[in-house]
Amino acid sequence: MRLDMLTVGLFQSNCYILSCERTNEAIVVDPGGEGERILEAINRQKLRVKAIVNTHGHIDHVSGLSVLAPALSVPVLMHKDDLPIYNNLSTQAAMFSVPAPTGVKIDQFIEAGDKIEFGDIACEVIHTPGHSPGGISILFRGESPQIILSGDTLFMGSIGRTDLFGGDYDAIMKSLRNVYLQLPDETVVYPGHGDKTTIGFEKRYNPFLSQLL
Ligand SMILES: [Zn+2]
Ligand SMILES: [Zn+2]
Repeated sequence: MRLDMLTVGLFQSNCYILSCERTNEAIVVDPGGEGERILEAINRQKLRVKAIVNTHGHIDHVSGLSVLAPALSVPVLMHKDDLPIYNNLSTQAAMFSVPAPTGVKIDQFIEAGDKIEFGDIACEVIHTPGHSPGGISILFRGESPQIILSGDTLFMGSIGRTDLFGGDYDAIMKSLRNVYLQLPDETVVYPGHGDKTTIGFEKRYNPFLSQLL
């Protein structure tokens, strides 16, 4: 699998383009802004995008949808528990004093255990609420080492804030314990902001994770 990361928008969110090297089929995860730039990256590699997946409904992860979704005409996927947040993009925008992005229709709700496939690649949706009610992580078990896209649940050295838009500290700690701590240490974590990391590194240096050991 090929993984491209583009850091986009005012909030410096990581958009991921995951593609199958054999078939050039791909998915886009969290187009948080700069839709044109994401499109360019897709076209440059001649990728055939099958779906756009949102780890959650926060403004900094969905602001590129209005450009990307019509241009690609592929299904837009999100967990249904983040729909109330997503349907209130104007409130989110006002909170950060930024212009409200235009939302697009969510075509398909995804939930724990769902598989998403593109080319030879399959990944699994894991429900990891806490930063938001419908937050998901996306696990690629077939990669070696495994890869997980963590959205805003786990960052290098930290976790997503839980004081905004449906956040719940107890829920995020439960997601960390039940999902992240169960993964092998060598699993590579690609977060919604900042650098990639590994589960082993976070167990050691991330106080939110190490307190659960
Ligand atoms: Zn977020
Ligand atoms: Zn974010």
